[in-house]
Order: sequence, then C-alpha cells, then structure tokens
Amino acid sequence: MDKMKAVYLEKVKEIKMKEIEKPTPGEGEVLVQIKSVGVCGSDIHYYNHGRIGDFIVEKPLILGHESAGKVVEVGPGVTSLKVGDRVALEPGIPCRKCEHCKEGRYNLCPDIVFMATPPVDGAFVEYVTFPEDFAFKLPDNMSYDEGALIEPLSVGVYSTERAGLKAGMKVAILGAGPIGLATLQAAKVYGADVAISDINDFRLSYAEKLGADKIINAATGDALEKFNEYFNGGADVVFETAGTVPTTKMTTKVAKRGGKVVIIGLAPADTINYNFVDVSAKELDVLGIFRYANVYKRSIDLVSKGEIDLKSMVTHSFTLDQVQEALEFADKNKDKAIKVVVRP
Ligand SMILES: [Zn+2]
Ligand SMILES: [Zn+2]
Repeated sequence: MDKMKAVYLEKVKEIKMKEIEKPTPGEGEVLVQIKSVGVCGSDIHYYNHGRIGDFIVEKPLILGHESAGKVVEVGPGVTSLKVGDRVALEPGIPCRKCEHCKEGRYNLCPDIVFMATPPVDGAFVEYVTFPEDFAFKLPDNMSYDEGALIEPLSVGVYSTERAGLKAGMKVAILGAGPIGLATLQAAKVYGADVAISDINDFRLSYAEKLGADKIINAATGDALEKFNEYFNGGADVVFETAGTVPTTKMTTKVAKRGGKVVIIGLAPADTINYNFVDVSAKELDVLGIFRYANVYKRSIDLVSKGEIDLKSMVTHSFTLDQVQEALEFADKNKDKAIKVVVRP
C-alpha cells in the first residue's frame, strides 16, 4: 500500500505529521493531490480550543476545509473529470436524499459530511478521495490558491443571494476579515454601494482596494454614527461577519426600515440581547446563514471572469510540515495577514 503524509491535530495546540495509507477512489470518486489549503478561523478555533460548540475533537483530526488540487486518478464510473484536471473541492458532502437535500438546501442536511469538522478529516494531507460532483473544475486562468479560496468566497456569494441583493442597493458590512471581504466583493458584483467597518486598519485598507465605497474604523469613532451618516436613512442590507456581540446588536440600528439583516458571523455566545423592538417596528427580515449551497460553480466563474479578486487576499503561504506555524501565524497576525494558505 502506498503511503502519504497527513497532518493531525493531536490535541489542543499539538500538531503532528503522520504517514498514513493513501486512499483509493471508489465508485464516482476521484483521487485529488492537494495543492493549496486555506487556513480558516474554524481551523484556528479547533487548534486553540479543541471544539466549536457541539463539535468536539475527540480523536486526532486532520484540519483544513478550503482546498484545491489536481486529479491524479479516477474511480469507476467517473465521467465529468479526468486525470490532470485541476479542481476546487466543495468540502461538505450531503446525503442527497433528505428533505433539505431534495429542496436544494443541502447545507442544512443533518447527515452532511463536512471536512475538518469532527470526526471528519480535512485537507492538510497529500491526497484525498472525493465525489466527482463536488470537485469543480478550475479554468486555466485560475491558480490552486484561488481554487482553495472559492470556499470562503462561496459564503459571501451565497449570503448576497439569500439577501436578494439588487443592483445599486445600499449595503453595510460589519467586519473586514476574509468573509467580510468576500461578501464585499460579492456585493460589488451587483453594483451595490458598500460601506464596511472593522477595528483593523490593515483589513480596511484591503476593503478599500477590493472596492468598498466607504470604510469605517470602529476603533476610532462611533461606527453606527458613521454608517448612518453615510447611508442617511439606513442600509438596505446589513451583513454581520465579525461575529462579535456589539456588531451583532448594532445590525438593527444600521438597517433601514424594511431592511434586511444577514447574520453570517457567530457571536461567542448562543444567546445575546438583541433589539426585537427594532425588528418589529422597522419590519426587518433577519436571515441566518449556514455555510452555502449551489454556489461553487458561479463563484469560480466570477473569479475566472475577473469580477472578483481572490489572488490579492492570499498574503502568506506555508508548506505541509509547517501547518502549526501557519495556524499560529494566522491567529496572531490579523493586522498583517488576510488569508494564509498551506501548499502541500
Ligand atoms: Zn472556512
Ligand atoms: Zn440530506
């Protein structure tokens, strides 16, 4: 049996490289040699805390769910891909049979198998086997790094779709991390007028470069006041991507009467004080977002056509034997890193 390298989170803050059996593609699967993996906030969270809510790392786990690579072998029955194809991997494989899957909202499938979510292993490895219909072919003008970043971009594209964004709408985005920047770029595809806030100047400078019409530093002034000044009357849609209690609470104040609030970030507590008088009196639509569904192909097309820039979001790269360094670096350098990638 062929061997390959795999990087495990053994326990909190302990990463270990191991040699394991290289997988063989089954019916309808391809074997993908992983070329780029984005480091995500959730990877860092598992590394630091060993759990996210009810998902607990109980045995060694391979992290990484934002990945792209090259097809090196195809299993029986595969028709859409061939050896040599470059692919981005959509990391959640649903059951395809339940009510939610049949309705097309497969992100809500209770049996979804999602990479790097315990007990399912992720992509900090040399090879993975993957169902062909969740491996999306990358056009020649896209790099593996861009392929990996289709994952966070998909959250932004899906959120703007779910919000029913229309051309020229006034959009407020709270938080300019990778998801905030992805949402910003997805909103700009609609020609939205976007104001975005963060407490980090480095991230705001990226937001400006990526097309934000107005940047708001929430550390040096009253962000709500600045949003209301800019959108005189409120925003049509407010996207919360920072995942903090104050930004989540602020959403009802930034939205216009009849506007929408889209909660993408996860506040660090299940229950927070939220102004439901605003929700009623302003007749706000408050929408939750859980990952994404049916947007990978379109997200790839947007990048390939040059409407969305993922390349400049990659600020640092590491090798497979530096996964621990990559996680530590991404965790501690939010003022100089946007997206850190590992290239096996
Ligand atoms: Zn992610
Ligand atoms: Zn299902």
